[in-house]
Amino acid sequence: MHKLIMHIPVVNSILFGILFILMSAFSACSQVPESTNTEIKTNAMTVNKTDDEWRKTLTPMQFNVLRQKGTERPFTGEYDDFFEEGDYYCAACGTLLFHSSAKYNSGCGWPAFFEPSDSTNMLFKRDLSHGMIRTEVMCARCGGHLGHVFDDGPKPTGLRYCINSVSLIFKPSPKEEKHK
Ligand SMILES: [Zn+2]
Repeated sequence: MHKLIMHIPVVNSILFGILFILMSAFSACSQVPESTNTEIKTNAMTVNKTDDEWRKTLTPMQFNVLRQKGTERPFTGEYDDFFEEGDYYCAACGTLLFHSSAKYNSGCGWPAFFEPSDSTNMLFKRDLSHGMIRTEVMCARCGGHLGHVFDDGPKPTGLRYCINSVSLIFKPSPKEEKHK
């Protein structure tokens, strides 16, 4: 039956016609992901990577906290007992998050800040996990989990941004030139 069809020219041209239509439809479908990507770029989060891509740029601990909303053990973080002058950036995408002038020793075991450098660089989300009502703090650019914000902080804001050290990268302020 198959051989018979292939030897009839009219049927062959019909088959090629159908094949051509199918290929055109397929190539049209293959355009869809590109336009979808463009739409994602206009959303609040401008850094969108897959878990595999994040694993290539983050340490296992950073991946656990930033991408899987883990929490580093208290009093173990690099910036818990750390009070140098400078800025703290998102460890995943480099967005500016806090300045050292807002950092204080809360004694909770994690770096604590009473205000962000720019709150538009952060996303806030109600978090009901672990039987608690908390407000999760995320990086607005990449969606990375940073920590939580509580209302038991010091003046002037009364807020305590309790942030995992591994979610942060510290860059010291440029030292003022000493005049001889
Ligand atoms: Zn980020």
